Amino acid sequence: MKNTDYQKINDLLSRPSRILITTHTNPDGDAIGSSLALCTYLSMKKHEVKVIVPDPFPEFLAWAPGQENVLIYKERIEECKKLIREANIIFCLDFNNLDRLNDAGSLVLQSDAVKILIDHHLNPSAHFDLKISISRTSSTSELIYDFIVASGDRDLLDKSIAECIYTGIITDTGSFSYSCNYIKTYEVVADLYSLGIDGEHIHRLIYDTYSENRLRLLGFSISDKLVVLPEYHTAYITLSEEELQRFEYKVGDTEGVVNYALSIKNINLAALFMERDGQVKISFRSKGNFSVDSLARNYFNGGGHSNASGANCQATLVQCVQTFLNLLPGLQDQLKSVY
Ligand code: 5GP
Ligand code: MN
Repeated sequence: MKNTDYQKINDLLSRPSRILITTHTNPDGDAIGSSLALCTYLSMKKHEVKVIVPDPFPEFLAWAPGQENVLIYKERIEECKKLIREANIIFCLDFNNLDRLNDAGSLVLQSDAVKILIDHHLNPSAHFDLKISISRTSSTSELIYDFIVASGDRDLLDKSIAECIYTGIITDTGSFSYSCNYIKTYEVVADLYSLGIDGEHIHRLIYDTYSENRLRLLGFSISDKLVVLPEYHTAYITLSEEELQRFEYKVGDTEGVVNYALSIKNINLAALFMERDGQVKISFRSKGNFSVDSLARNYFNGGGHSNASGANCQATLVQCVQTFLNLLPGLQDQLKSVY
């Protein structure tokens, strides 16, 4: 199957449908931005549209336009099950495998709805009927922009859709510092500005709204918990459940922490291990040609992008870190010669 089924998706959308949009667990700016942008657009096209996210999203995204259409699966299970059962079309945004929907994944798999993937991760699974799967792009939000324009609906783009798309692009590129070497991304962004967005204001809403606890957790992570292994060009941080509780952890509070470990000169691989809800959530980041997608996929049953990936581990925090440490000698040559 080719990677862009624009025409087939458009044919399918030619009459009003019950549409469900889903996105991944621990929703980030791109997950929420792309979902809300698509939701607003499809609502304009007279479809009945709802968005389901597996679990709550960070407070720094709580301003994004269109949130009234979002249901959190964990909190409204029966309503969500009904929406999944009754949908004619299910869009799956910003993930490549249905297990990223947690419990909702198997229900989506069983549903008779046409399943459409719009995503920029590597290695999409075969569970989707139609797809727009492009990894060489800034974000899923940019793919939503492309989809709307390719559908001949540039004139339907408004400020609220533009704000959502911009949110996805800046959060997935670290405010234009990675996954952003594509001229087209800047053309899209220029068009978003022409629709009246205030980029400085959006940046403040997302990045200048830390709680005191969140900032202190960041300080603690760096000053007390960062381990640097120069011989492996690697740095990592661990945070136990107790440590997170000490700083009254809220969803989103560790967003970006792993990037500080990667910001050290000559560090090419960084990891954050976080004990949450009886599991260990791992975030990997890398520089250059060292692929943390392969690392997460091959050894931790996770995945993502070449320079940013993640996984969920059922083992203890200590065991997960040990597994990671055991891998480093075998990766040493690769980590030494990153370009
Ligand atoms: P983060 O570290 O910010 O949670 O995630 C980084 C990237 O890895 C994101 O693109 C995210 O979608 C992906 N990712 C995070 N956790 C997992 C996981 O458990 N499984 C897979 N397949 N991808 C993940
Ligand atoms: Mn994304």
